[in-house]
Amino acid sequence: MPATPDLTNRIAGRARASSGPGRLPVWNPATGESIGTVPLSNFEDIEAAVTAARAAFPGWSGTPVGERARSVGRFRALLERDQETIACSIVREHGKTMVDAMGSVRRGIESVEFAEGAAGLLPGSTLANTSRGVDAEMFSEPLGVVAGITPFNFPVMVALWMFPTAIALGNTFVWKPSERVPFSADLLGRLADEAGIPGGVLNLVHGDKDAANALLVAPGVDAVAFVGSAPVARHVYTTAAAAGKRVLALAGAKNHLVVLPDADLGSAVDSILSSAFGSAGERCLAGSVVLAVDPVGDELVRRLAERVRALRVGAGDDPTTDVGPVIRPEHRDRVESYIRLGEQEGATVVARGATPPGSPGYFVSPTLFDHVRPTMRVAREEIFGPVLSVIRVPTFDEAIAVANSSEFGNAAAIYTRDGGRARAFRERIQAGMVGVNLGVPAPSAALPFVGWKGSAYGALAATGPEAVRFFTRTKVVMSRWPSDPAAS
Ligand code: NAD
Repeated sequence: MPATPDLTNRIAGRARASSGPGRLPVWNPATGESIGTVPLSNFEDIEAAVTAARAAFPGWSGTPVGERARSVGRFRALLERDQETIACSIVREHGKTMVDAMGSVRRGIESVEFAEGAAGLLPGSTLANTSRGVDAEMFSEPLGVVAGITPFNFPVMVALWMFPTAIALGNTFVWKPSERVPFSADLLGRLADEAGIPGGVLNLVHGDKDAANALLVAPGVDAVAFVGSAPVARHVYTTAAAAGKRVLALAGAKNHLVVLPDADLGSAVDSILSSAFGSAGERCLAGSVVLAVDPVGDELVRRLAERVRALRVGAGDDPTTDVGPVIRPEHRDRVESYIRLGEQEGATVVARGATPPGSPGYFVSPTLFDHVRPTMRVAREEIFGPVLSVIRVPTFDEAIAVANSSEFGNAAAIYTRDGGRARAFRERIQAGMVGVNLGVPAPSAALPFVGWKGSAYGALAATGPEAVRFFTRTKVVMSRWPSDPAAS
């Protein structure tokens, strides 16, 4: 069933109107047109969703694990069936190109495949006769109700990191998607119901920060998984932890791409371009600062500038588009204010792409800065738009020092033909996801999506075996049974 323009929450397997009066328009960022509205759920809506999730928990956690995995498998089959529809929804409400949108749906489906087998990764172990007549057994159990709060920039993929694994492991879930991209979330909620995932196991509550904040302190919520910007991640982490919940909060980024003089510049430039300008730079793995190690700077900047000028900016549903719009006019203005700031700080704009003339969409010209210095704000703060800064550094050591001075540590990459340098980079760089001759080091679903420093709060990572640990807790059972003398 297609989404109606005026969305409702989905609680306990049914559409349920929000009890609050507030609604927010949802905009197509390529055209500036309203495509519907989303409810601004209030405390009562959150309470209803958490109550439904709590009520479903005993039955669902007691459901045999194979049965739970098969439900997730049916959901995966429906995602496969509807992947193009979902990608089109992402293009429409987020602005990604169709290629980027399809890529993100495929990555999400990989996480669902992982979830189907996740229970097989549960660490159960035993230690017989740990002391005389005493045996130890270790069990992994679901946590209970998990709340997931997701960002706008991956409307589907980030949620698919979370709820399929959480529910496959026996938890129930309340998802609060970004209010800026709620239609793709609605499609996923409908598919979960169609897959026969029982009512209450996955609940979808729309809204903005008020709905999110109600979840952080709701007594019925046991854990919070969050992905979003750095200030909000810090707030979510401290608030939910203070309310006694297990929390994982992935945050913002400022990713460095180091280019050594021996790099294959042709492929490095392709890779840097797609890292910095793919998804209009609205990716937590986007390369944002190039560290050009002397003497590669002049040639690298010349080649990058040529390519940036040639980028085609336009609507995501136009197959010739390289760079789509950014999410909202306020965000466009913020990115443009960073471009002005960079110039005021003394950086040089060496290339800008064209935007579609007269378009009401939220387009930003792809921009390349040269002669950026490490202390400038454009070099340090997350811009989250199609802006790439080049810092020239005299040595490899200096490149490492600049990258490691960042408050963030999400991703970093090096371009070189020297295996020793690549190895040294891997050892010394303070980032969780590292690329060697590739600019978007996104781990596959079986591996952790892991940020360091200010890019993540909490002990574990969002995907792979660390997600399995996040969504479960351990129970150790010590049993003493007198030995049966008749048996010996
Ligand atoms: P955001 O922090 O504005 O919003 C994320 C979610 O939090 C949304 O659901 C939103 O409704 C909610 N929210 C917003 N303000 C809140 C508040 N004050 N209190 C409680 N909840 C609040 O982030 P965004 O703009 O939607 O997403 C972009 C950001 O997410 C970027 O900084 C990007 O780097 C980051 N991100 C990080 C990763 C990662 O894995 N580290 C992945 C994707 C995106």
